[in-house]
Amino acid sequence: MDLNYSVEEQAFRAELRLFLAEKLPPEMADAVREGRGLGKEDYERWHAILNQRGWLAPNWPREFGGCEWSAVQRHIFEEECARAHAPRIVPFGLSMLAPVLQKFGSKAQQDHYLPRILSGQDWWCQGYSEPGAGSDLASLKTKALRDGDHYVVNGQKTWTTLGQHANWIFCLVRTDPTVKQQAGISFLLIDMDTPGIEVRPIILLDGSAEVNEVWFSDVRVPVENLVGVENKGWTYAKYLLTHERTNIAGVGFSQAGLAAVKRLARSQQHRGRPLIENPHFAARVARVEIDLMAMSTTNLRIVSAAAKGQAPGVESSMLKVKGTLIRQEINDLARRAAGVYAMPFASEAVLGSNEAPIGPDGTAAVAAQYFNNRKLSIFGGSNEIQRNIIAKVKLGGER
Ligand SMILES: Cc1cc2nc3c(=O)[nH]c(=O)nc-3n(C[C@H](O)[C@H](O)[C@H](O)COP(=O)(O)OP(=O)(O)OC[C@H]3O[C@@H](n4cnc5c(N)ncnc54)[C@H](O)[C@@H]3O)c2cc1C
Repeated sequence: MDLNYSVEEQAFRAELRLFLAEKLPPEMADAVREGRGLGKEDYERWHAILNQRGWLAPNWPREFGGCEWSAVQRHIFEEECARAHAPRIVPFGLSMLAPVLQKFGSKAQQDHYLPRILSGQDWWCQGYSEPGAGSDLASLKTKALRDGDHYVVNGQKTWTTLGQHANWIFCLVRTDPTVKQQAGISFLLIDMDTPGIEVRPIILLDGSAEVNEVWFSDVRVPVENLVGVENKGWTYAKYLLTHERTNIAGVGFSQAGLAAVKRLARSQQHRGRPLIENPHFAARVARVEIDLMAMSTTNLRIVSAAAKGQAPGVESSMLKVKGTLIRQEINDLARRAAGVYAMPFASEAVLGSNEAPIGPDGTAAVAAQYFNNRKLSIFGGSNEIQRNIIAKVKLGGER
């Protein structure tokens, strides 16, 4: 693979950079750079700006309104967005549900839901995990019983990210309790406004409420909201997860985070010299930078393979583990570079405050981000489980 960018790719990068300079609202970029939390309106605003330019769905085929960009273009897009401190694009509808609908959904579902994902009309959340069914997802208990032309759903989902903003949830439900666990699961699309749904916030370590419990009591869901075939939901669920994990690599976020660490370490003093010159600190920065370069290349290779129709397999687990460890190491370096300014646990730095933060740029949110990002190695399938998968496939010789 030629790792030099072609003339066209360089022109594409320049076009992106210009677009971001013109269209990314500066106050939004400031909030992202300083690690402040974003609200629903911010995500929706950025979504609308990208959609207007036709750049919202890099991985979708053109027939559905996507960009159908090459792997390299997507990589450049991610790099440039992170470099400019653009908000993340909320993935649940765009990069998790959409590939499932495009591959397994009915024509009616594709025609109805995909344009609404693009326009931002629907905000989706993911109803997979339950208390007692996270790593062991197949043991999920939320049940959906057929009653005429409806399913009646009862049970509880948990850790539902940004579910408080969502008007739709895609859910794994048990439709047959009598067969092997994996063979009795279905994939349902549920309108969050249906009577019987309750969303309760869970407060995270940094004080933010970005995850929720979702409770279902006799929720009636029309049968046309079933994706694919009843009891085949496990197949679709696994297909979705490979997309979820590849996105978790977060190369662009790490690049931006590492640049911020270096900036901070140049401005901070340690024993009368810039911290960046401290051999121990510099060695850690160098090590994580090398890891990041290696992962970035691996990411490119995997995305190119996926673009050629080879769906990401165990490689997505490798990216998940490595990508999250790198991001957590960068968070730790930022915390060390911030020094005393990371001592106060200022959840207001993330949640918003009417007082100016103390310390150099971005340091007020460092501790809160460090704690918040402990989640990275848990969600999307915990790293221990991913390591089991890698070991089984790569060492055990089975897939
Ligand atoms: C911030 C956050 C956001 C999330 N967002 C969503 C969401 O939007 N939608 C959704 O459906 N889910 C979401 N999740 C849930 C996430 O997918 C689960 O937390 C994850 O799959 C782990 O499951 P668990 O929490 O039940 O932990 P458990 O499965 O109980 O695991 C606990 C610990 O034991 C280890 N462990 C368990 N089994 C094994 C094994 N066989 N071998 C080795 N180690 C093992 C795990 O790795 C972990 O360290 C989110 C989680 C978090 C923390």
